[in-house]
Amino acid sequence: MSPANLLAENQAFADWLKQQDPVAIDQQVQALEQRISPEIDCLACGNCCRSLMIVVEEAEADALSHHLNTTRAAFDAQYLEKGSSGRMVMNQMPCAFLAGNACTIYPERFSGCREFPALHLPHFNKRLFTTFMHYERCPIIREVVEALKKESGFLPHPHAQD
Ligand code: SF4
Ligand code: SF4
Repeated sequence: MSPANLLAENQAFADWLKQQDPVAIDQQVQALEQRISPEIDCLACGNCCRSLMIVVEEAEADALSHHLNTTRAAFDAQYLEKGSSGRMVMNQMPCAFLAGNACTIYPERFSGCREFPALHLPHFNKRLFTTFMHYERCPIIREVVEALKKESGFLPHPHAQD
């Protein structure tokens, strides 16, 4: 499918999802996420760590500066800035803690890193814009969305004529 046709199909799918039962869609998305996530190797990807703006909470900055054995002032100067929303964000992209495709502070990573791509969370239908924004970036989102197109009945199931 051409990129333009895929974009149009995804827009139509997002519009269609808004008309569906949100609880049923959450159940389908969460089941697909549980099946598909383990099949995708984030260490072969790393796209989110290379291209997302990471929000850092105060407590996270405190914990990580302690973990790195540095002061908060030095940590903030090296890694943080204030985003347009007024929240603290990482000041580098790709993330300064990425080495190859791996996170060098994985046990201490930020809540936004733990949450992404957020398919395990409720209210999928309220996050359609951001989810589809990450469609090209994240193979987990891509695979879940494509499977959902079929399982939800938006696209005819390939074996429907069998
Ligand atoms: S802190 Fe780790 S998981 Fe989060 S963006 Fe940076 S490298 Fe990725
Ligand atoms: S973009 Fe998606 S598949 Fe790639 S590393 Fe991030 S969560 Fe994993």
